[in-house]
Amino acid sequence: MIKINENYLKLQASYLFTTISRKVEAYAKDNPDKKIIRLGIGDVTLPLSKSVVEAFHRGVDEMSRAETFKGYGPEQGYAFLREAIAAHDFQARGAQIGAHEIFVSDGSKGDTGNFQELFAQDLKIGIPDPVYPVYVDTNVMAGRTGVSAEGRYEGLTYLEGNSGNGFVPAPPAFPLDLVYLCFPNNPTGAVATKAQLKAWVDWARQHKALILFDAAYAAFIRDPQIPVSIYEIEGARECAVEFRSFSKTAGFTGTRCGFTVIPDTLQIWDQEGQGHRLMDLWNRRHSTKTNGVSYPVQMAAAAVYTPEGQKEVKELTDYYMANAKLIREKMSSLGFEVTGGENGPYVWVKAGTDSWATFDQILEKAQVVVTPGSGFGTCGQGYIRISAFNHREKVIEALGRLETALQ
Ligand code: PLP
Repeated sequence: MIKINENYLKLQASYLFTTISRKVEAYAKDNPDKKIIRLGIGDVTLPLSKSVVEAFHRGVDEMSRAETFKGYGPEQGYAFLREAIAAHDFQARGAQIGAHEIFVSDGSKGDTGNFQELFAQDLKIGIPDPVYPVYVDTNVMAGRTGVSAEGRYEGLTYLEGNSGNGFVPAPPAFPLDLVYLCFPNNPTGAVATKAQLKAWVDWARQHKALILFDAAYAAFIRDPQIPVSIYEIEGARECAVEFRSFSKTAGFTGTRCGFTVIPDTLQIWDQEGQGHRLMDLWNRRHSTKTNGVSYPVQMAAAAVYTPEGQKEVKELTDYYMANAKLIREKMSSLGFEVTGGENGPYVWVKAGTDSWATFDQILEKAQVVVTPGSGFGTCGQGYIRISAFNHREKVIEALGRLETALQ
């Protein structure tokens, strides 16, 4: 008899987006004549841009010729991509990050989910609420929590986001070991100011805590005062890991590429009090469990950093941000409390008191799919997340339908 990892039995229901798909499929089956518009899951709709596709093709062509064929590449990513990332995403913004501190991967879902493997079981973990569910569920699977009661797992410390703090929780008045932060935020679209991030960095250094900073939506920041990377904050090299993704920046959700930044200054400690470089541990894990990302995909990702690539990804993200502006303006004009949509591709709307009831109402009356805020944590109850990832005409049509359905 093969015994199960009991921790999996603690996981709450099915993954949020699976539940949504099931409900939408059932509705579509019962109402085959109705045209559904999806503003739910955060998946891009525009294709890869011209210079990215050309570089992708060049990569494939190189793989087809004996003289340029490549087998296994370096697990951490090719130097050409790591150097381009370090130069453009960090050094150009005054953040002192070197290519050796970049670990290329197939995306940040895996990296944000797997990173917890490096740590002991009995850490005190801070989780924002609402939150991208991957951080919670992977710690549940690893056995770092008790059971869930009323939407919260025993053993985790929840950092509450609400309209009072603009969905940017402040550091707590007590110590924690590991804290997950995500800005621009999924699901709320909120961003942290320099002062708010500085407070987190100072707190983390004071308590020897580690911040796991998910910046998957960094490319959507439009306000020049908002920090794009946590390494723009003094002291962050001593206390923060950053996760980035090409998924939303450049339309790579189906192509798969991202990276994790681990400064060589970061240390964690063993039972004897001996320090170990965090990057060495991640390197050990990474090179044991993966053979990296395909060469053509890394060629495509590197094209994002050429002048044309930069122009193209700005156009892609501008397109979604124009959608976000329409969504934000419409929902505000209908009298709803709205967060996000200015520096992130999600609009977070207070609509009613029960998120799933609002989800059902909107699906049935408007045939629009949104994401129930309660799926991201108890603080999300009463909210819905509307995604800006769709074609303009669909967003406009959906907003017209929402106006009718929600009156
Ligand atoms: N982090 C956040 C906050 C996300 O919302 C997502 C995807 O929706 C990811 C990470 C995962 O991105 P990737 O496609 O790189 O795995």
